[in-house]
Amino acid sequence: MKKEEFEQLLSEKARIIEELQVELEETNQGIIALTMELEQLEQEKLREHIDVIKQLQIELADTNKGLLALAVELEQSEEKYSSILKNAAESILTFNDEGKIKTTNPAAALLFDYSEDELLGMNINRLIPEWNRIKFEFNEDEKIAQYAGASFVFGTKRYGDTFQIEFTLGRPIFANKRQWLLIIRDITERKKAEEGLRLMGKIFHGSTDAIVITNINSKIIDANESFSTITGYEKEVVIGKNPTFLFSHKHNAQFYFHLRRTLVKSGAWSGEVWTKRKNDEIYPIWLSLYSVKDENNATTHFVGIFSDITTRKAAENQLKQLAHYDPLTGLPNRTQFTERLKWTIEVAHRDNQQAALMFLDLDRFKLINDTLGHQAGDQLLIEVAKRMTDCVREVDTVSRLAGDEFTIILNNVKSPEEAGQVSKKILEAFKIPIQLEGRDVFASTSIGITLYPNDGTTANQLIKNADTAMYHAKERGRNNFQYFSHSMNQKVLDELEMETNLRQALKNNEFSLNYQPQFDLKNRKMIGLEVLLRWKHPVLGMIPPAVFIPHAEKSDLIITIGEWVLKTACEKSMAWQAQGLPSVRIAVNLSGMQLKQHDLIERVKRILHDTKLPSELLELELTEGVLMDNAEMTISTLNELKNMGIRLSIDDFGTGYSSLSYLKRFPIDTLKIDQSFVRDITTNEDDNAIAATIISMAHNLRLKVIAEGVETKEQLDILYDKSCDEVQGYYFSHPLDETRLCSLLAGLRN
Ligand code: C2E
Ligand code: CA
Ligand code: CA
Repeated sequence: MKKEEFEQLLSEKARIIEELQVELEETNQGIIALTMELEQLEQEKLREHIDVIKQLQIELADTNKGLLALAVELEQSEEKYSSILKNAAESILTFNDEGKIKTTNPAAALLFDYSEDELLGMNINRLIPEWNRIKFEFNEDEKIAQYAGASFVFGTKRYGDTFQIEFTLGRPIFANKRQWLLIIRDITERKKAEEGLRLMGKIFHGSTDAIVITNINSKIIDANESFSTITGYEKEVVIGKNPTFLFSHKHNAQFYFHLRRTLVKSGAWSGEVWTKRKNDEIYPIWLSLYSVKDENNATTHFVGIFSDITTRKAAENQLKQLAHYDPLTGLPNRTQFTERLKWTIEVAHRDNQQAALMFLDLDRFKLINDTLGHQAGDQLLIEVAKRMTDCVREVDTVSRLAGDEFTIILNNVKSPEEAGQVSKKILEAFKIPIQLEGRDVFASTSIGITLYPNDGTTANQLIKNADTAMYHAKERGRNNFQYFSHSMNQKVLDELEMETNLRQALKNNEFSLNYQPQFDLKNRKMIGLEVLLRWKHPVLGMIPPAVFIPHAEKSDLIITIGEWVLKTACEKSMAWQAQGLPSVRIAVNLSGMQLKQHDLIERVKRILHDTKLPSELLELELTEGVLMDNAEMTISTLNELKNMGIRLSIDDFGTGYSSLSYLKRFPIDTLKIDQSFVRDITTNEDDNAIAATIISMAHNLRLKVIAEGVETKEQLDILYDKSCDEVQGYYFSHPLDETRLCSLLAGLRN
């Protein structure tokens, strides 16, 4: 039962009771009057009245009881009703046809910023902004309310602030009357959230940065259009995948581990990463990663935002390139090299690894520049840089420090031999001629190797040691590699002493000569001998010429020593002839320093004159490099020597840059194929082919060819097959002292 009905009923009853009471009163008064009459009237009639009264009294009491029950019921239902209103989250308002608010609740009061009392009786339109007001168009039958505004409906607060609402409007019947019932929800927050989402969507789809979202298990759940543009992968293909398919080999597992740890720990990570496109192209991105957390601070998603920084990186690299790279070869320059070396040391130290530093200096590079020009020199540097790079792993660093100086850092070498292997590979790679200005030019290099931590633990130490080792390689006749060792270091410290020692040697007659016979390959007859210098130090014993001659060449001692060798050799030859031994041609090594002497011709003339050796019995050996060094002057000197009747040969042929055709300009008689080719002629096809080429081309140029270092019959046979003219080597004879040589010569007489 509705309250209003109840009230009506209640007043109805109350009125009946009132009427009954009035009646009762009247009846009572009537009774008194009647009583008096009754004394005269019959007893029965009185009784009748009393019964009626009693009955009425009972009725009245019943009615009161019912009323009480109804009142309790009413109170309870009111309570229920108002508790719903009170606790409703929605604002609930009822108003009449005039718009006058009849009922309200706390939510409505709170929403509109009025008290409930203030709202009661207020016109509903005060709660709606003017431009959005409800226009009540009452059709008597249906009574429909319409909003003047568009679909967005706003409420207005006490001070005019508007906010978005969602509502339900109805016309239920209350107290026998139709009333307007308005239920309102504030949707400002929801709208804001929707707006935020819409904005997010716009950003997600419109961003030129790639955006990719993964779930907690690192499976991609969404990616935007830019993601596809940058990576080349369509969204449909990547959904459900782990983004690892974008990784490039440029970072190791440790890198990704560290990245993930930072992300999980701090909720964000950003940095430069090399990734892979669908077409396998490796390119750099700037990547920002975030973890998305729920209200319990538990990670639910990861978001990755990245941009392709190839162009930026390229510009950056160009700058870096200029500062850190050699523009000619594209290799790291000294600055970059030093940085990388320090880094290598750090890593090796941390990981307990060995590393190697190699110093490479091209042999006789100056010669190329001087003879073929700088452009050819540049070409050569580019080519050798490429060959060096091809010989090392990607983790190693080849740098160009200056001119023809290169370095190689080998990271994480397992043993010192590894550096030797690389060196061998490089020396081998250099054996292929380089085409320069239409000529075949041979390059070679001397390599010094030092090891971390054995030889040194700082960059400076290693650089110094590798440099020292490289010089050692030069001393060893170039085109080879040498390790740095402390004994070697000591040797260098002793260099100054060496000069003093050499001077002493001259004075004290510590030098002597050995003679190595040379043979005609066809008839196996001895046709000459090479004069080889020997030094017996009073304390150190025999010191090989490969060790002391480079020292002698650093000072002008080699000139004095060389002159002593030439003079002594001529004297000896004449002495042997005087003894009746057959005369053979003597070949004397001539140092580059000697060739540069301005009075070399006079000196040689004087010696020949003094010793009376026929000039045709004298041959001078000059190395390829010495010949090329200042070619013009050399040619005129050689021509003069040649005119004197002296034979000329090119020693160690094949190790330098010269091409055979270039040698046409020099008045030469013989080419000496370098030992290194002969050594491997039986096993190495290249060496075999080079030897064959040298021989046939030399013959075309009408030059004789002698092979040195022939140690085995196999080598000899091959050389014979290739029509080599002469040979020299342990197979026939080691270098001999004077006594042994004389007995050999004596044998020839018979
Ligand atoms: P080189 O002119 O190439 O001399 C040949 C070297 O090869 C000699 O070493 C000789 O002993 C060695 N040899 C000869 N046959 C064989 C063989 O079958 N197998 C091997 N493995 N080696 C063989 P040596 O005497 O130690 O001389 C080394 C270098 O010292 C010479 O190389 C030369 O460049 C220089 N040299 C020696 N004597 C003189 C000299 O009087 N004046 C100058 N300027 N340099 C000299
Ligand atoms: Ca020689
Ligand atoms: Ca030689």
